[in-house]
Amino acid sequence: MTTTNSQPVKDYSRHPCFNAKIKGQYGRVHLPVAPKCNIQCNFCNRKYDCVNESRPGVTSTILSPDQALVYMEKVLDKEPRISVAGIAGPGDPFANPEETMTTMRLISGKFPETILCLASNGMGIGPYIEELAELNVSHVTITVNAVDPSIGAKIYSFIKDGKIVYHGVQGATLLLERQLAAIAKLKKFGITVKINTIVIPGINDQHVEAIAAKMKELGADLLNCMAMFPNVGTPFGELPQPGKEQMAGIRNVAEKYLPQMRHCTRCRADAVGLLDDDKTEEFRGCLSACATLPKIEGVTRPYVAVSTNEGVLVNQHLGEAEKLQIWEQQGDSFRLVAERETPEAGGGVRRWTALTRLLGDCRALLTSNIGETPATLLQESGVKVAVMNGFIEEGLEAIYAGREVNAYKGRRKSCAEGGCSGTGSGCS
Ligand code: SF4
Repeated sequence: MTTTNSQPVKDYSRHPCFNAKIKGQYGRVHLPVAPKCNIQCNFCNRKYDCVNESRPGVTSTILSPDQALVYMEKVLDKEPRISVAGIAGPGDPFANPEETMTTMRLISGKFPETILCLASNGMGIGPYIEELAELNVSHVTITVNAVDPSIGAKIYSFIKDGKIVYHGVQGATLLLERQLAAIAKLKKFGITVKINTIVIPGINDQHVEAIAAKMKELGADLLNCMAMFPNVGTPFGELPQPGKEQMAGIRNVAEKYLPQMRHCTRCRADAVGLLDDDKTEEFRGCLSACATLPKIEGVTRPYVAVSTNEGVLVNQHLGEAEKLQIWEQQGDSFRLVAERETPEAGGGVRRWTALTRLLGDCRALLTSNIGETPATLLQESGVKVAVMNGFIEEGLEAIYAGREVNAYKGRRKSCAEGGCSGTGSGCS
């Protein structure tokens, strides 16, 4: 898990969607950084926000991760009651994983007391769950509309996995497999999971009890049954919207299995404010202004990772490092912001691919030695690899000034030459 030496303890009870008692005291901001989607629901019109997280109406704009960070600062400045930052589209966060993860890293680094939250269809979240836990993303919503692929086949017109598009029962089966695995893994990592189920008359309205039972079995925490909004021009555009009575009956049955969320306000992907006191319109100008900001160099990779034995010298081989220190520049000095556990040894390339994800917010790695494979993968992912022996601070000065670290560099010997002080179990 990521730890920060100065990180305030988050108060996880301040999430208004998961704790109705505080919905008049604390609010959320949705950061619209995820425009693409990897599935097509038959109730969704892409001109509008994704119905997974409700509400008709377009998100007014899309932000890049660095713009989202600036927007977050401005929102907190004007509305300090915002306790949650979430990504809920307008597509799916994990059809846009780079934007999503970069935004989460930036917000986690800059606002460590803010609760982090995501809403996804579950199709692509699996490979990112470890890092989400490391970033202290504490609340995730997965939209599950069917636990029977023959019903799912009526709801989704296609499911996209990379470049392959699946239809019908085959697509619904794949989506369900991914969702079930994702929910189990999220729970394994201690993340609070809410399930959203869009209730569609004549399609899955008799199926919600089965969904609730399966989600309870997987350890989900909360179920939010939402009445489908019939969007004009979609395959389900002519279906009636479920009424209040029907929804109340469905929730009462589902409540035998899981606590029910009954205060969802069907927020837009760019919603901001309290659930009882929405400020989305008020912040519209601020959001649009942030969307026009030029790309801010360095903002998306503010940190430098360091492999060190004691926290003073760069003196550890990457392959031997069980943890990496994460440093940032603050004015004229440097601050240790976190220690991150490295992926377990022995996984070959998979270990180093996981490391590139772990260092996605780092511009450089300072290490006393490194193997060819991790060095190549890190450089390709945008992390400068600086091999040196000497004081951490001197290495940091060079990196942040844009200088080479050669002046501090010891003669690098490859593991094969026997220059490595490690056991040899690391960098292969
Ligand atoms: S759509 Fe519902 S669950 Fe999602 S942030 Fe809004 S109130 Fe919370």
